[in-house]
Order: sequence, then structure tokens, then C-alpha cells
Amino acid sequence: MQIPFMDLEMQNKPLMLDIEKAMKEVIARSDFISGDAIQYLEEEFASYCGVKYAVGCSSGTSALHLALLGCGIQAGDEVITTPLTFIATTEAISQIGAKPVFVDIDPETYMINPSKIEAAITKKTRAIIPVHLYGQCADMDPILSIAKQFNLKVIEDAAQAHGALYNGKKAGSLSDVGCFSFYPGKNLGAFGDAGMVVTNDEKMAAYMRALGNHGRTAKYEHFIEGYNYRLDTLQAAILRIKLRELDKWNALRRQAASIYNDQLSAVDITLPVEPKYAQHVYHLYVIRSSERDRLKTYLHEHGVSVGVHYPIPLHLQPACSYLGYSRGDFPIAEQVANEVLSLPMYPGIKEAEIEYVASILSKFCGDTN
Ligand SMILES: *Cc1c(COP(=O)(O)O)cnc(C)c1O
Repeated sequence: MQIPFMDLEMQNKPLMLDIEKAMKEVIARSDFISGDAIQYLEEEFASYCGVKYAVGCSSGTSALHLALLGCGIQAGDEVITTPLTFIATTEAISQIGAKPVFVDIDPETYMINPSKIEAAITKKTRAIIPVHLYGQCADMDPILSIAKQFNLKVIEDAAQAHGALYNGKKAGSLSDVGCFSFYPGKNLGAFGDAGMVVTNDEKMAAYMRALGNHGRTAKYEHFIEGYNYRLDTLQAAILRIKLRELDKWNALRRQAASIYNDQLSAVDITLPVEPKYAQHVYHLYVIRSSERDRLKTYLHEHGVSVGVHYPIPLHLQPACSYLGYSRGDFPIAEQVANEVLSLPMYPGIKEAEIEYVASILSKFCGDTN
């Protein structure tokens, strides 16, 4: 059996007639830049997230950059975040000349540990970026109360968590501003790069919209030097069609996760934990094993494609060496990075396929014990 890590064609194929029609309409109108579909998608996605405003942009990375600028973060400021994330989270911080400050993660959810945030706050701290890793929300209540106490902004990196819930509220709607990526492999993916910021703050939304469109007030009138971070009309038209399927797809991911949980309950590996406050949308189904590298090879040899998110925590990345961290600074993140393994997960993965993956895992653990 060959089991892919993800299967985008399975998602897209049943929608192709609608998607082609929507693309043809954009082409017929030639409104490739700032076309109607963008505003419709923004309204639909804002409503989906339960917020007032959404601003489309070119990627999750540009969403994070716009959100930091929207929160007034400047050169020299410090922004607290997790070392176990994709590098885009901190790229956006350093792009401004601000400094990423890491806090170790929770050993069960692998997300920023709220009880360690306060010790990292200095006079220069201006914001916290919790990352809703793998498809579930970070523990937001304690983060928001620390932020309130120290007058910090909170920016959610919700790039992996479209539709995830925290105490019944949608990821992205829990803080000052939420950032989404529509990278093709995300739970809601475009046919290329795309992203969005969501907020209830009207002024911030208008400022981020202007910044992402060359700081424009009118066609050739610019109040500030901005960026070309616009969302393409074609991507917006495609995303509108896919957004209608998101809840169904997330439900299928949850169903697949629950089959994995059942099948793997007796196997000697650590399964994902879903705290009471969370409804996980399983962008990734991540297990842990102290034999991760051997297990990974074994699965590959048996036709199962897997991933590692992420093998090197950011504080140990060569790109972040200028921050001056060293091995041992965030022991939980370091251990988890050595042990995590992402199993095949996508809407439509078959029960028999999950059973096969589970049987290989169980065989590996049986063979080594
Ligand atoms: C994908 C991702 C991003 C970046 O999104 P792009 O659209 O690829 O720029 C940022 N943060 C996290 C946690 C991500 O998974």
C-alpha cells in the first residue's frame, strides 16, 4: 500500500467545474487586481471567523507582517512567541527590526506555555504571537490576561487553524488580529500563495489594507510607503468556492483523527492531546516517539509518507543564530522537535489506509520492544 501525506486532488477534483467557472468569470472581466471576488471572500471569511473585518493579502507571511505593523510594532520592540513553529512567524518580526523572544512550549500541546511568558517580558515587550499549531488553538485565556496586565498586543498565527475553536470561538477571532495562510496544503488552500488578516478593529483593518496596497489612499496618492501584499482576484475566486467546503473537510479530518486515536491507543507512542477548551481541526496529526527517526524510515519503507513539523526549533536555526540562543535554552521544544512525526492526514483519507498506517506503527513498536 502507498499512502500519501496529503491528497489535494481529492479535495479539488469534485469542485473543478465550479472553480473553472469562477476563474473564467475573472478572466472575462480582467479584474485580476483588486477584483470583486476579493471583497466577497473577505466578507465571507470575516463572517466565518466571527469578526467584523478581513483583509486579503499575498501569503500568511505577509499577513503576519501586516498584523505586526497594524499593532504598531516598531524596530527595537520585542515580540514573544514559540520556538516550535514555521520560520515565517519570526521572519515577520525581524523584518520590522523587532526582536523575537522565545518562551518554551507546553509538553502536552506543544504550544507556547502561558506560565512561562511573564518571565520573558521586558520594558521593550510589545506583543505576543501564539501559534495555533497543527490545527488547534493555543491556550488563549491566560495569554490574553497577561497581555492585558502588561498592555501587550496579541496576534494569532492561525495559519494552520482555519475553523479551529477555543471555548466555542473561532481561531483568529480571539485577539487583536488573526493571521491566516491559504498556502495550498493548509486546511483552506488556494492554487498558489494567499493569506488574510482578520480583526474587529476598523482602523487597524483600514491601515493594514492600505499598507498592503502601497500605502494608497487614492490611485496615485500614498500616505506611507507600503508593500505589494495584495491577494490575487483569481485566488480569491477559488477560495470562495473552497471555503464552502471547509467545515465538511475539517469534520472529515476530525473523523480520521478519531480513527487514528482508536487504532493507536495500545501502541507505545504519544498521541495528540485535545484539551477541553479546544476543538482541533487536525491540519496535522502529530504523534511522538523517542525512536522518531527510525520510525520515519520504517514507515517510508512500508509506503507511508510522513513529515516532521518541525525538526529544528527556531532558536537553533542558523538563520536565528543572531538572537544568541543556544541548545538547552528551551528543553521541551528541543525534545519535542526530536520526537514529533506527522502521519498522513487529509479529508477523505480512508479508514483502511489509517488502519494500514496504524498496523505499521504497531509492528514497529512490537518489533523494537
Ligand atoms: C504556513 C505557515 C505560515 C506562513 O504562511 P505562508 O502562506 O506560507 O506565507 C506562517 N505560520 C505558520 C504556523 C504556518 O504554518
